[in-house]
Amino acid sequence: MNLKISALEFIEEVKTGNITVEEFTAKTIDRINQVDDKLHAFLSVNNDAIDQARNIDKKIKSGENVGACYGMPISIKDNMCIKDTKTTCASKMLENFVAPYDATVISKLKKQDAIFIGKVNMDEFAMGLTTEFSAFGPSKNPWNIEHVPGGSSGGSAVSVSSYECIASLGSDTGGSVRNPASFCSTVGYKPTYGLISRFGLISYANSIEQIGPLTRTVKDTAFMLNLIAGVDPNDNTTINNNKEDYLENIDSGIEGKKIGIITEMIGDGIDPEVMTATKEAISKLEGLGAICEEVSLEMVKYSVAAYYTITATEAGSNLARYDNLRYGYEMPVEGYEFNSYISKARKNFGPEVTRRMIIGGFVPSAGHAGKYFLKAMKVKSKLTKDINEAFKKFDLLIAPTVPILPFKIGEKIDDPVSLFLVDINTVTANLTGKPAISIPFKIVNGLPIGIQLMANSMNDKMLLQAAHALEKTVTLPEVPI
Ligand code: GLN
Repeated sequence: MNLKISALEFIEEVKTGNITVEEFTAKTIDRINQVDDKLHAFLSVNNDAIDQARNIDKKIKSGENVGACYGMPISIKDNMCIKDTKTTCASKMLENFVAPYDATVISKLKKQDAIFIGKVNMDEFAMGLTTEFSAFGPSKNPWNIEHVPGGSSGGSAVSVSSYECIASLGSDTGGSVRNPASFCSTVGYKPTYGLISRFGLISYANSIEQIGPLTRTVKDTAFMLNLIAGVDPNDNTTINNNKEDYLENIDSGIEGKKIGIITEMIGDGIDPEVMTATKEAISKLEGLGAICEEVSLEMVKYSVAAYYTITATEAGSNLARYDNLRYGYEMPVEGYEFNSYISKARKNFGPEVTRRMIIGGFVPSAGHAGKYFLKAMKVKSKLTKDINEAFKKFDLLIAPTVPILPFKIGEKIDDPVSLFLVDINTVTANLTGKPAISIPFKIVNGLPIGIQLMANSMNDKMLLQAAHALEKTVTLPEVPI
């Protein structure tokens, strides 16, 4: 049986009776058992998956209504709550935390008969871009296991690209869906801020993060978005999308569309191979009838600094609740007064989370806020103004998703600033709330390069149409695992 099919193909195969959900699920679990020792995408695997698959097969046989997912195996980043399931955020702090309720995206997918095949690895609390900051060890890039798979939703990208599931949900605060999608050669999508409910997503930086799908094809992303987007009374930042059908007219193409090439995202520090791939993508889009020209977004050069200032501040406040009293790990309170207990308990956070909490306590503090936090907020609003201006002239913006190729595990781990700078092309979409997608484009020396397209807020449908048009121009080799 072929595990390499897309979500839409899987549904067809099940509907026509060519495969049963149980067979496919069993094969998927075999695959996980075969390759995950090497890749470490999964933190836990769902032991009830086969039973759930059997139940769906039964429903199909007896002609009952079956949800749109038809038992499709989906992996979930371990910062989204699935009731009665461990949700660790890849942190020692939540190592034994069992979620008491379902995130909105989870209950929506449950209703559609998705099978959550397992919870997948990530950087601790989604802070990072390589999965090296997972407290449970890094995931490996299936294209070359000496290299990082990207992050923080690294487990999501690895599981999709190495056929351990059909699709995955990740979260993207500054690129965490798009970056690993690019490094592992999958589609990765960060929707318009507010399109998908964050209820049940463990917060890192609420004001800019979104849940997003990682899939094999753009059509699969549109399919997932149809199921999980929409207003949610449990998340008052969600927006009404009027039940848009993102799959409808996905073949519309991009003839006549104006595309801006962001000057600041193809400048200093870009790998020549990534530059060549970007030029090739642009000429393919021109070949399809798009009109491409450069556009400058001056504030992009300050975007990484602003991003890390704002997100550390929000993280500092979000993570203050992890005091090891209401949930946490075994550490007796005897012999401590309150503050020393909390300080000791927080030693269980890894180095990156600790760094963010220290910065997050300092930058908004009295006497310093004007110099750091407020300045960062000014960059955010000027960047938003600039990009809105650009969208008066252009339908879409293009840049490589990541300016460099996937690097080796361990190569940048001791140099946080050089790691932060890898986010230069992704954080703009988060700071401005715009939708952005990474499309697999090329494999160079055995390593993937993804191309990023961005659109104006609520133009998600047009963005997916454009991404689908670009995707159709490329044929890529199979992952060598
Ligand atoms: N690398 C960025 C960070 O560490 C992005 C992470 C994310 O999108 N969750 O904050």
